[in-house]
Formats: sequence, structure tokens, C-alpha cells
Amino acid sequence: MSRWPDLIRDVHDFPKPGIVFKDITPVLADADAFAAAIAALAEPWRAAPPDAVAGIESRGFILGAALAHALGCGFVPVRKPGKLPARTLAQDYALEYGHDRLEIHADALPPGARVLVLDDVLATGGTLRAATALLRRQGAQICGADVLVELALLEGRGRWDDPAPLRSVLVL
Ligand code: AMP
Repeated sequence: MSRWPDLIRDVHDFPKPGIVFKDITPVLADADAFAAAIAALAEPWRAAPPDAVAGIESRGFILGAALAHALGCGFVPVRKPGKLPARTLAQDYALEYGHDRLEIHADALPPGARVLVLDDVLATGGTLRAATALLRRQGAQICGADVLVELALLEGRGRWDDPAPLRSVLVL
């Protein structure tokens, strides 16, 4: 079986000069690697799966939908502004320069649903933090915030002030 971490590719100066982008598409393209990465994400949740996995646009959709399927639970998309068709709740959050916004459908989850929030990469942590705050405002009980890859240099874990446990499968 392929070792999936070896297939994560560094793309320099994307999307801006100075950024080293962790490209997971080679992991997704390899059947064994994709299965192993999803199995690693699923493993701690098998005994008590969440009611839903909430995946953050866009790579969180790919991993999150596969993880939800593996755990036998539902999937909820956390999207960029203006993409969801029905009534939404929104959360603004700060970026290094400027701000961004995430949205969910207001009726995406029943009150008190146990939700695992998922993204591919933790960098500064702002995106994952905004998603957990948004889902909590919608009434969800956040049982975890998981990423496939944590970028240690960007110190997102040190800034993590959310009560939900933060877990990364791989620290780079
Ligand atoms: P942050 O909010 O700074 O933790 O950024 C995390 C979000 O941006 C995630 O949705 C990632 O997919 C994306 N991201 C940030 N930095 C990188 C990187 N170096 N490589 C790949 N994705 C990244």
C-alpha cells in the first residue's frame, strides 16, 4: 500500500509568492493513498461517530464527504459566500490581509447535532476556527476539529482557543 504522506506535493509560490502550497491532489488520485488517508481520519471516530461531518470548501468537501461515507454519517458543506441556495448563516473572519466569510445553510443540522469539522490543511487556524464558531451558532455540538495536515511553522495550534479538540493526522 502506498504511503499517502509521501504523495503530498509542495508547490512553491502558489497562490502567492512566498507560499508553499501543500497539494493533496496526488493523494486523491491514488486509490490506496486516498483510502489510507480517509482511514487515518476515520480511525478515532469509529467507536462513536459524529452525526455529521462539516467540510470546509473546497478540499474539505472532498475529504469530508469520503470521511462521512466511511463513518456512516451525514455531510454538511461550509461554503464561501453566495454559493448556498437556501437561507444561510454567515461568519466573517480575519485573514492576514483583509477578511473572508463562510456560510452554512441555516437548517443544515438539527439542534444539538454532534458535528466533526474537517479541512485539509491547518495553517494559521482562522478558517477552522470560523467554521466551528459558525456551526456552534447554528446549534451544533462540535465534537472535534480535524485536519489531514497541520503546518507547524504557522502555529495555528498555538492560537487555537476553541473548546473543541483540534486533531491533525500529519504535522509537517
Ligand atoms: P488558515 O485559515 O490560515 O488555517 O488556512 C487554512 C485554509 O487555507 C485551508 O482551507 C487550507 O486549505 C488553505 N491553506 C492555507 N495555507 C495552505 C497551504 N500552505 N497549503 C495548502 N492549503 C493551505
